[in-house]
Amino acid sequence: MPADPSQEVRRLRRQLRAFVSQAQENERKLQRFLQQEVDFMAAAGLGELLEVLFTDYPRRFELDAISLRLADPDHEIRRILADRDRPADPRLLLVDHPLPADAPLRLGPLDTAQAAELFPGVSGIASAALLPLTRRRSGLGQLAIGSRRAERFITGTASDFLARLASVLAVCIENALNHERVRRLGLLDPLTGLHNRRYFDARLREAIAQARRDATPLSCLILDIDHFKQVNDRHGHAAGDAVLQHLAGILKRQMRLNDVLARLGGEEFAVLLAATDAAAAMDIAERIRLAVAHGACPAVGVAPLSVTVSIGCSSLDDNHQPPPEDTGAQLLDAADRGLYEAKRAGRNQVVFQPM
Ligand code: GH3
Ligand code: MG
Ligand code: MG
Repeated sequence: MPADPSQEVRRLRRQLRAFVSQAQENERKLQRFLQQEVDFMAAAGLGELLEVLFTDYPRRFELDAISLRLADPDHEIRRILADRDRPADPRLLLVDHPLPADAPLRLGPLDTAQAAELFPGVSGIASAALLPLTRRRSGLGQLAIGSRRAERFITGTASDFLARLASVLAVCIENALNHERVRRLGLLDPLTGLHNRRYFDARLREAIAQARRDATPLSCLILDIDHFKQVNDRHGHAAGDAVLQHLAGILKRQMRLNDVLARLGGEEFAVLLAATDAAAAMDIAERIRLAVAHGACPAVGVAPLSVTVSIGCSSLDDNHQPPPEDTGAQLLDAADRGLYEAKRAGRNQVVFQPM
């Protein structure tokens, strides 16, 4: 027994308060990191992603300096940024050579020369974290964040949150670059920013091959706006365009990263749902239908418009049989028949059709 039990109780209370306050601090920190990840993922395009990275991120985490080094051996990123009329930014360093894929994450003090090289134009940076950005075993680049406080980034301290944030950022950078590549190849629809028919057809073949290899199901939705001609006739073509963009936004928000979403043409859209069986696909289709029916679309010069969609759904089951050549066409055809049925039965509904 301790000499003075009340003293021991006070000590334990203090310790408990310290633990609780540490846990609360960790919780706040985790929330900040999660919000930052969401902001990275929500950025549309490389320009916006860089804006979030260079402006919001340092503010949220009270960083004194930040820089991003990206490998750009083919000058592709330079061309993309030039197209976007983005002025050169000293925080973005594009290097002509590939970067190592196995660079370690490092935290620690910086000397003046290192600080000047990492953060040109910023003085007094005393410590930094260097986060490698890697995707599929190739080095995309490195994010460097710095602080004037020497004790901010200390060698050997926990860096799990930073490592995770760096891997999310790497995926977002890669996606933004892929999106730009696709746009340059003429595979994007300019009105909605969704992929077009050409892209969809190419991905359909790949998705079927992948589904058979992994023995996973694959589902397909075809959506068509109900009475869309009336929207144009009553409110004008611009309002019709706004409805198409609004629907594209709803669809994008419902999709996962490896789903394929395209505007097939006119007011018709298609979705390929990877590793999704018929029941799950029907749930997703129903969610989309409700989101469209319940959300009014803001349109310039007229009151918010309400539209509905009809959806046809089809599914390829999960077996390993090699697919016949026309499997893709059959899958699309079944979804199309579902769509036709949904229209016939009164619109604003989802209908499944077997292949
Ligand atoms: P249903 O419920 O049977 O699908 O009727 P609907 O009126 O939606 O179908 P219909 O095929 O008769 O009309 C489609 C309309 O979509 C006709 C066309 O002018 C319009 N449309 C196609 N592409 C665009 C576009 O890019 N912008 C706008 N504003 N309208 C478009
Ligand atoms: Mg149509
Ligand atoms: Mg229609």
